[in-house]
Amino acid sequence: MLKKLLVANRGEIAVRILRAAKDLGIATVAVYSDADRDSLHVQIADEAVHIGPPAAKKSYLNVAVILRAADEVGADAVHPGYGFLAENADFADACAAAGLAFVGPSGDAIRTMGDKVSARSAAHAAGVPVVPGSLGRVADIEAGRHVLIDTGFPVMIKAAAGGGGRGIRIANDLPEFEAAFPQAAAEALAAFGDGGLYMEKVIGKARHIEVQVLGDGSDAVHCFERECSLQRRRQKVWEEAPSQALSDQLREELCSSAVRLARAVGYSGAGTVEYLYDDAADRFYFIEMNTRIQVEHPVTEMITGVDLVAEGLRIAGGEPLRLKQRDIVMRGHAIEVRLNAEDPARDFAPFPGTVTDLRVPGGPGVRFESMLYAGYTVPPFYDSLLAKLVVHAETREAAILRLVRALKETRIDGLKTTKPLFLALADDPAVQAGAVHTRWLEGWLETHAARLVPDLEP
Ligand code: ADP
Ligand code: ADP
Ligand code: MG
Repeated sequence: MLKKLLVANRGEIAVRILRAAKDLGIATVAVYSDADRDSLHVQIADEAVHIGPPAAKKSYLNVAVILRAADEVGADAVHPGYGFLAENADFADACAAAGLAFVGPSGDAIRTMGDKVSARSAAHAAGVPVVPGSLGRVADIEAGRHVLIDTGFPVMIKAAAGGGGRGIRIANDLPEFEAAFPQAAAEALAAFGDGGLYMEKVIGKARHIEVQVLGDGSDAVHCFERECSLQRRRQKVWEEAPSQALSDQLREELCSSAVRLARAVGYSGAGTVEYLYDDAADRFYFIEMNTRIQVEHPVTEMITGVDLVAEGLRIAGGEPLRLKQRDIVMRGHAIEVRLNAEDPARDFAPFPGTVTDLRVPGGPGVRFESMLYAGYTVPPFYDSLLAKLVVHAETREAAILRLVRALKETRIDGLKTTKPLFLALADDPAVQAGAVHTRWLEGWLETHAARLVPDLEP
């Protein structure tokens, strides 16, 4: 088992990982930038190391400084969380070279699955259906024209190194395609340091369904699926499990395809295989793999009772997978909503500031994952996620009722948050019926956003 873990992250995920490590009796080390001196993750860790100025490039993304911190405190493992260095294969390799256990897959597995183009190839090779599109990277407009024969319009131009909903463009005809292609390449180079592009047919009215996997390098299991079709700008805002759209047979096909892929790449740790599901055609397509713990992992923990972060730590400590597929069963329904410091009535403008008072929801089936405390000032430098409210109940209907109950209990005074969005969504007939797709929320917001005014409590 690991002895001392350095968590190379901040915010709610750092808090979540520190808690899991403590529950396993592992000593914990936080790292923090100048902007995070007063953060909860710094307060709850056994030790904390200052790693630089607020700019992530100089702190949370600074590999040399983080490795030096791990060395100074005598850590034997590093957890990258999500974002920052989580899908950086060179960082995973550098940890290994420094004698540190990296909590996640090998650098090679990250390299294969983190590049969205090589991941498509790996999925195809493992017999997992991929979205029709280019076989590899598309070098130029000329090469793109050949791919268009298979995809038709509309077509998606995607950055091989993209993530977080960024680096994706849609072209509806040839002139749009020819204009968008060089722009997409320049943007991808600027944003991700890699201008490589690929193309995919646009799957209209698709659902986003993803499978949670756990691997130990030789074996892998799944913990069923999550549906994340409620998205804004291709970023998830509401996630749930199980998906309403899958029959038992389709669920089995989807989940076993994810396990096949995880085994094929010798996957180690927690990971997610993402798919689009076309209801009308009853077909699913691989889109990408996230080689890390995901924001929405608690949804799966609620329906399966598996502590995904703890399992990841055990695996990084060298234990083989403890869970057999038949031991993993799901019960009831879980929903997560992302409470961000944003004003939904003003195009989700960020709203950093000080939490003057806080009331956390509780009771049966309610989990509140957050780094907030009364008096905490949200810094403007990082992402706007304040808290994840996760509820679990016997049925989806009961979970929605519980979500509304818990949202109404929640007070985050002093900040504008996305709470009104979720109260309105929970009340919407289409959401209640589960009749949504990945573009649904953007259409809904056109008519509803203006009414989602957060009351700046008190
Ligand atoms: P997950 O894939 O775990 O569901 P997301 O897709 O929402 O999570 O985000 C993936 C990663 O991208 C997270 O680490 C998040 O911090 C980061 N991210 C999310 N939104 C943005 C954004 N607008 N700009 C940059 N990074 C983002
Ligand atoms: P990221 O790495 O930014 O998470 P993904 O490839 O996972 O990018 O896509 C993010 C979202 O964009 C998906 O959840 C879906 O809503 C939309 N999307 C991606 N590819 C397609 C596609 N081929 N057709 C339709 N929608 C897509
Ligand atoms: Mg994705």
